Amino acid sequence: MFSKVLIANRGEIALRILRACKELGIQTVAVHSTADADAMHVRLADESVCIGPNPATQSYLNIPSILAACEITGADAVHPGYGFLSENARFARILAEHKVAFIGPSAHHIEIMGDKIEAKNTAIELGIPCVPGSDGAVTSVDEARRIGTEIGYPVLIKAAAGGGGRGMKVARTEAEISNAYSTARSEAKAAFGDDAVYIEKYLGKPRHIEIQVMGDGQGNAVHLGTRDCSLQRRHQKVWEEAVAPTVPMDKQKEIGEICAAAMRKLKYSGAGTIEFLYEDGEFYFIEMNTRLQVEHPVTERVTGMDIVYEQIKVASGEPLSIKQEDVTFWGHAIELRINAEDPLTFAPSPGTITYYHPAGGVGVRIDSAIYQGYRIPPYYDSLIGKLIVHGRNRQECLQRLRRAVDEFIVDGIKTTLPLFQDLVRNPDILAGNYDIHWLEHYLEEKKKAG
Ligand code: ADP
Repeated sequence: MFSKVLIANRGEIALRILRACKELGIQTVAVHSTADADAMHVRLADESVCIGPNPATQSYLNIPSILAACEITGADAVHPGYGFLSENARFARILAEHKVAFIGPSAHHIEIMGDKIEAKNTAIELGIPCVPGSDGAVTSVDEARRIGTEIGYPVLIKAAAGGGGRGMKVARTEAEISNAYSTARSEAKAAFGDDAVYIEKYLGKPRHIEIQVMGDGQGNAVHLGTRDCSLQRRHQKVWEEAVAPTVPMDKQKEIGEICAAAMRKLKYSGAGTIEFLYEDGEFYFIEMNTRLQVEHPVTERVTGMDIVYEQIKVASGEPLSIKQEDVTFWGHAIELRINAEDPLTFAPSPGTITYYHPAGGVGVRIDSAIYQGYRIPPYYDSLIGKLIVHGRNRQECLQRLRRAVDEFIVDGIKTTLPLFQDLVRNPDILAGNYDIHWLEHYLEEKKKAG
């Protein structure tokens, strides 16, 4: 087991990792930018190192600085959290060269899944169901047209180097393909410096369903069930549930087993998430995230597992502590991402928290790093906390969620809590009746209504 873990992140996820390390009896090192000197992860860690000025490119993404912090403190492992360097294969490699363990999968697996076309080809080889589409990159309008006719319209043209939903264009008919193809290419070139694109059938009203997997790199792997993350704004998840409320249990089990078998075949190590669109009873692979996800707590809540604890153990060379038959699902969990943003315009709202009263009581978990008097810096992601609520079933979970969002107070800044106070009472949400476009439509209507 490691003796000292450096946490290369900030905010709630730095605290989350710190907690797991403490429970394992591992010393912790926090790293921080100048702006984060007063942050809670710095206060709670055993040691801390300032790794650079405010912009993330000079601090949380600054590999030489993080390496130096490892050397100074004698950390023998790094947990990257999510975002920042968590899916940076080069970082994983450099750490290995310096004999520091990366708490995550191998650089090779990060690379395969980081390239969308390679990831899709790998998924097909591993028997994971994919969206029908082109066999790799498409290099001419004629080819795009031919594939469009083959798979049927509408189709989606996607950037191979894509991320955050950028570089995607829908062509609803053959007449639209030439335009969509060239726009997607130039957007991809501008956003990612790579104009390679590929084509998929466009799904009109899918849900976003994902499978949490966990492997030990020794050929053991399990799945920890589904999450439904269909409520999204600009491709950012806002509300997540486990287990997926509308997918029949036999289908959940089937796709979970396909994913676990694929991870065994890959000898995947650590936590990962295989993301699907789900429409008319079918799953279609979209991507795999080779890291811990923001929404992992809902899975922890229904399975009783500590995913971060398990990540650290397998990275240190121990085999998985659980077998598939040990994984059971109990009740229902929902996570809300609370952002420091205006609930109508979503403009960031940094500033000082003048009063803070988190929700509490039965079935409530808060993952957050804020406190009264804390000044939210304007330089980073606006996520300030996650409210995770559990109930014996979805109905009880929603009841609890309603009173929890109502009692949650964060004063001094704007937060997205008022949006959630509406959503927890919305009939479509209560009925579980939504797809990946629902929230965008809802917000548009709300804006129109003034
Ligand atoms: P990115 O890496 O840019 O997030 P994804 O492949 O994960 O790219 O797609 C981002 C989002 O675009 C998905 O969450 C989904 O909302 C939508 N999307 C992707 N592929 C399709 C498709 N074939 N049909 C409909 N929507 C899609």
